[in-house]
This record gives sequence, structure tokens and C-alpha cells, in this order.
Amino acid sequence: MNSYLDSLNDAQKQAVLQKDGPMIIIAGAGSGKTRVLTYRIAHLMKQGVDSFNILSLTFTNKAAKEMKKRIASVVGDGEAKNLWMGTFHSVFARILRSEADKLGFPSNFTIYDTQDSVRLISAIIKEMGLDKERYKPKQILGRISSFKNSLVTVRAYFNSADMQEADMHASRPKVGEIYKEYVARCFKAGAMDFDDLLLRTNELLARFPETLAKYQNRFRYIMVDEYQDTNHSQYIIVRALADKFGNICVVGDDSQSIYSFRGANIQNILNFQKDYPDVKTFKLEQNYRSTSNIVNAANSIIAKNKTKLDKEVWTENGAGEAINVMRTISDGEEGRFVAQSIWENQMNNQLSLDSFCVLYRTNSQSRAIEDALRKKGIDYKIYGGISFYQRKEIKDILSYLRILINPNDEEALKRIINYPARGIGATTIDKLTIAANHYKKSIFDVLKYIDKIDLKINAGTKNKLQNFMNMMLRLQIESQTKNAFEIAEVVVKEAKFIKDLEKDGTPEAVSKVENIQELLNGIKDFITDKIEQGEDASLTSFLEDVALATDFDSEKKDDEPTVSLMTIHQSKGLEYLYVYVVGLEENLFPSAMSMSTRSELEEERRLFYVALTRAEKAAFLTYAQTRYRWGKLVDAEPSRFLEEIDDQYLHYLTPKAPEPAINRFVDKSIFEDAPKGIRFQKPIQRKKMERDVAQKKEIVVSSNLKKVSLVSPKMNLFDGDIIAGNIVEHNRFGTGTVLGVEGKGPDKKAEIQFATAGKKKLLLQFAKLKVI
Ligand code: ATP
Ligand code: MG
Repeated sequence: MNSYLDSLNDAQKQAVLQKDGPMIIIAGAGSGKTRVLTYRIAHLMKQGVDSFNILSLTFTNKAAKEMKKRIASVVGDGEAKNLWMGTFHSVFARILRSEADKLGFPSNFTIYDTQDSVRLISAIIKEMGLDKERYKPKQILGRISSFKNSLVTVRAYFNSADMQEADMHASRPKVGEIYKEYVARCFKAGAMDFDDLLLRTNELLARFPETLAKYQNRFRYIMVDEYQDTNHSQYIIVRALADKFGNICVVGDDSQSIYSFRGANIQNILNFQKDYPDVKTFKLEQNYRSTSNIVNAANSIIAKNKTKLDKEVWTENGAGEAINVMRTISDGEEGRFVAQSIWENQMNNQLSLDSFCVLYRTNSQSRAIEDALRKKGIDYKIYGGISFYQRKEIKDILSYLRILINPNDEEALKRIINYPARGIGATTIDKLTIAANHYKKSIFDVLKYIDKIDLKINAGTKNKLQNFMNMMLRLQIESQTKNAFEIAEVVVKEAKFIKDLEKDGTPEAVSKVENIQELLNGIKDFITDKIEQGEDASLTSFLEDVALATDFDSEKKDDEPTVSLMTIHQSKGLEYLYVYVVGLEENLFPSAMSMSTRSELEEERRLFYVALTRAEKAAFLTYAQTRYRWGKLVDAEPSRFLEEIDDQYLHYLTPKAPEPAINRFVDKSIFEDAPKGIRFQKPIQRKKMERDVAQKKEIVVSSNLKKVSLVSPKMNLFDGDIIAGNIVEHNRFGTGTVLGVEGKGPDKKAEIQFATAGKKKLLLQFAKLKVI
């Protein structure tokens, strides 16, 4: 027997050896679906199937690359190279290139990215004289994209009374016209957007029987990974191609269907069984990836979903450690906990950073994690995205802030002079640049004297420049009296960043708003830290910090091992020894935007299932008690998903429930007889206080009875009383030990060793420490 077959269990082997006919493997996470696909391809080739005759569709190009590598190790490099393997988009773009002329496209057709498409749609809306508020370009593009993914062509749209009515109902009767014009313009420009790559492939296969036959003959064996997340358009392509030989093998897990917002259709699994009545169904039940604690916990979560296919997942792997649950005081502490834990686990177990992964629900959460990793000097890479401070909307805002500090910062100025759009075009900027060079001044200076120099700029544009300049000068004045957070807040408001994005409403725009919000949170966090440490909290100092962060990004080498950071959506199919899932809080995960219907909530739960099942050895679930929102600390509640995991699989690194609220009202009468010199500390319940009083323990009442806290003889309420050895709690850094105290009055500082935040010297008047 071939050695690669020996590395499969019986069920897997059967699936690999099943050569012909339709087959489906529906199985839970980590049960070897992808492994079966990989070895199945290798086996087909070993059996003499020509590598050119095999098509394998994966969810990411990275997955395709990894599969190829594995296959190459069985059949050799040369043969593996010939496999048709990649994402739907990449494979069909390649096919369309060689068939483009049939559809009237040049073979070197352009592929429009989202930005190109939005620009084109904006132009069309403008030319048609439609209201941009009602016809928001990105929303219209989203609508068109959903048409295309369900194979609704322009003609089909105009033949469908229902579709037209839906748009009529949404007060957008012209959607069909825009769609028609958009398609015509793309065609004229020799361009296809992402959705066209699938739609046009469908058109090609439907309209040209000889072309269909050609590809049917070519792709005698077809395989699809992550089948649960294919959309209708992809489903039809696969069905058409497999129609002749019927050698189609799809694998997936309905419990991991997480892309319904992009049109993925879980029904495709059910349809498959209808389309191919002679389908052979395989079940894989043994999980090889994770410890039994992780497998069982994941099972207990997904059991809460009503819509799911029946399947078992079990493992022979040992129990492993329980899933760690960590409550932190703030998102900042959450980040530091993750960084510290990665560092310790890496050191203690002598691991590569590649073994670690941090998963979050929304992109903006990466900020706190990135900041913490960077401060600890741990390299990381954002998978399928870019580092926080490199994101466009963040760079834009930072550019405003940079100009306030240094008006001569030309790059920053050019970036934002027309962003958000205010009708200042490239020609005008060129004229300003030339004038600036001529007078040996900065563009900002030229703008200041725009009235006095003749730049051959028309009155309208001049007016726009002046408005821009006035805004910047106003901001500059404000920046002299406001702190970094306040001024950033004003910039965001004045430049109307959020307003435009909120109107937009697409997932990308929502993510941008979250990023901007997170930037403000970061600045707030930064200045609060600095003030407490008696350090420079100015805008300049913040920008310097960011510049260093950007430098850290550019220093990273591509081939060095790094911690992987990504959204859960990006993590499908991947595995890591250590997985940290952060932000397990209500309204964040499950997301506030996806919990109003059962089906939305079930998709969030599937996301959580995907997240947890990425872990091989250990999983950490973290949540913060408070999180900044628009620069204000707000309370967060632990995610319902934490409650849903059977307790036996969990290990709480912090007590399950937070301490009772500090502001507990206590009846003054209990303390009337209290001896003098009593000191108050943390919250206590009335009963315990009464008991202590009865036992004549040393108890003291604070002057402010309304905010009485737990009484403890050792402790004190007053900053002045903090002494070395005290254990203190800080509202962002968490708990720490006081190492020493120095200075007097307002300058009094305590040096504290925090559990996650390291050693810090804090000014007691700002730090609001609680002794515990
Ligand atoms: P997902 O649903 O997350 O995509 P999957 O079902 O595709 O998971 P794989 O990624 O193929 O699962 O396998 C999970 C892990 O288990 C991989 O590391 C794989 O190499 C290993 N594995 C699978 N089957 C076996 C086996 N029979 N013996 C040893 N290891 C195995
Ligand atoms: Mg897989």
C-alpha cells in the first residue's frame, strides 16, 4: 500500500479511493476534509489520471498553494504544477482570458476592483441626474453584485416584476437602469469586475456548447473545498462542468458556513444531494487537529444551533488543557495579556511565533493587539488585511494631525487636500506645487496667500481652497488648547469623515467607521497613560509613537516567523497550536449588527465555532470589562457564547463574574458605632460588613458613605497611604504590586509592577488606584 494511504483512517481512505461519480463529504472541523481532497488528487494522479484533467477549487490561493506542495511531495513537483488549482475567481479569470473574444472582450481585459466599480457607478448616477443620497454608489454596487451572484442578468432583471418592485419599494426605481448602464460601460471599457468573473464564465458555458464541452472534457475530475460557502453562481458553474463525467467531489461543513452576507448559500449542500441522486456520501468523524477539550467545547457550542446537519465529531487526542477564559479590565489590558501569554508560551515551550494566532470579530480590534505585541517586540502579520496604522482612513486622519503639527508636511497635505472630496482637482494641486517651488515656500504657505498671487485658478476653486485653508487654520488654533484626543475628535467631525461613511452603510464603510473610532480610542488611551505617568501627552508625542509603529511594520521581514492576526472570517481552514479569540463581549461578538434574527445569530455562532476549532493545543478566550467607545470607557458584558460552552471544558484565569459594582450604597447606620481609624476599601456586601461589625473587627467608614467600599484593615482610600507591597488595581492596567512611592503632593508617584502592563511609575493624583 502506498505510504500516503497509510496516513489516513478508514473513512478517509474510502473517500480517497472512491474514484468516479459524484461524492460529498460533510464533516466537522479538523476531521481531514482538506487532507482527503489533497490525497485524493495525489491518488488520482498515481492512478494515471492526467494532472491537466483535474480541477480543484479552494477558498484562498494560500490553501491552493499548500495543497499543491503536499501533492508534490507524493507525485513530484513537475506533475503537481499542471493541476488546475486555485480560487473560483483565479481559475475562471484564467479561463476567461483565453475565451474572452467569444464574449466580445479583449483577452487582456481589465479586472476592476471595488474602487474602480464604485467610481464608475458614481459617474453613472451623476450623469443620470439621480440623487446621490438615495442612490448611494456602494449600496448600488452591492445590489448589482447580488444580482450577478444569483445570475440575474440585466435582461433577467427587467423580466422580473419582483426585483423591480423591490427597488421601487426602496424608492430606487432606477436601479435597473444603472445596472444596465454599468454593464454596458464595463463592456465598452473591456473590463470585468469580480462578480463578472463568475457571471461571464456562466455565460460562456451556457452560450457556447462547444466551449462547455471543451472544459467538461478537460476537467474530468472536479473537487471543491469549503463547499458550504459557495454562492449560486459558483454552484451553477461547477454543475455545468461536471455534467458530462459526473466526477465531482465536494467537501464542506455546514457548521462553518459564515459568508451568507456575501451570498453564500448553505442550500447548495442540500441541492447537491438532489442534483446527483446517486451521490456517495462520506462522513468523517474523527478530529485530528485539536485536544478533546477543544473538540467537545466546540461541539457544545454548535449544538445550540437549530439549523444544522447531524454529524459527530470526536477525537482520540488527549484532553489537553482546559480552554482558558480571561477577563481583563480593558481592551488595552486584553492586548497586553495576549502579548504576555504568547511570549510566555513561546519561551516555555520553545515554539516558533508561527504557532500563534489571534482572532477577532472586527478589523478595528487589531489596534490594541498590535500595540501590545509591538511594545513587547513580538513580530506579527495581519493575514488578509493591513496593519492598523496603514489603513487608508487612519492614514488620512493622521495626515490632518500631522499638518496641524507641521504645516509644511507636503505628503500629508497632498493626501487630504481633496479628501474627503471637496472639488480640488489634480491640476489645481499641480499649480500649487509649482508655485510653492517657485517661491521656495510650502504649499500651505501658498494657500495662505492664495489671494495675493495669481495662480490662474478660477474663482470657484479658489473659494474651495480658501474654505479648506480656513478649516485648517481653525483646527490649528484649536490644537493649541486641546489635547491630542480632543483635537482628533474635532478633526474627524470637521472633515466629515464619519458622516459620509455612515451614509454609505456597506460592510467596508462600517469597518472604516470602526477603525476611526478605534483610532480615537487609541489616542485617548495613549494620553491617559502619559498623563498618569507624568509624561508628554501632546499630539506630537502621539504622532511620534505612531511613526515608530509604522517603522516596526516596515522592519518586518517576509520570511521570518510571526504571530498571525486576522478576522475569524479569514481563518477558515487554518490551524494553529495556540489560538487567542479576543473580544468575547455582547454586541461585539455576537456583533450588534447580527443578532436581530435567529439566522444571523446562528451564523455568529458558527463563526465562533470556526474560531475555536482553529486551535490545536490551547485556546484562550478573552473579554474586557470595559472598552473605549468614542473615547469613553463603557462597560461591556461577557458574550453569551462563553455561557454556552459547557463549564467542564473551561478554566477561568480570572473569577467568572466581575467584582460587584463599587458604588454599592451602604446604610450609614451600620457604622455608627464603628471605632475610629477604620479604613474602607473594596466593595463589600452588607451582610459581610454587619458580620465584621459584630465581630468587632477593625472597620472604618469613609467620609463618603454613598460610595462606600469593602472594609479591610490593611487598606486605605487615600492615595497618600499607598505603600510598597500594596496590591492595587488600576482601571486600565489591571492589578499590580506597588514597588515604591516617591515625591510629595501632586508629584507623588508610585512605581508599580503590573501583571500584564509591566513596570510603570504613575502619578497618584491621576492614576485612581484602588488597593485590594
Ligand atoms: P476544516 O474544517 O477546519 O477545514 P478539515 O476537515 O479540512 O478542517 P484538515 O485541515 O484536513 O481538516 O485536517 C486537520 C488536521 O488533522 C491537519 O493537520 C491534518 O494534517 C490532520 N489529519 C487529518 N487526518 C489525519 C490522519 N488520518 N492522521 C493524522 N493526521 C491527520
Ligand atoms: Mg479544510
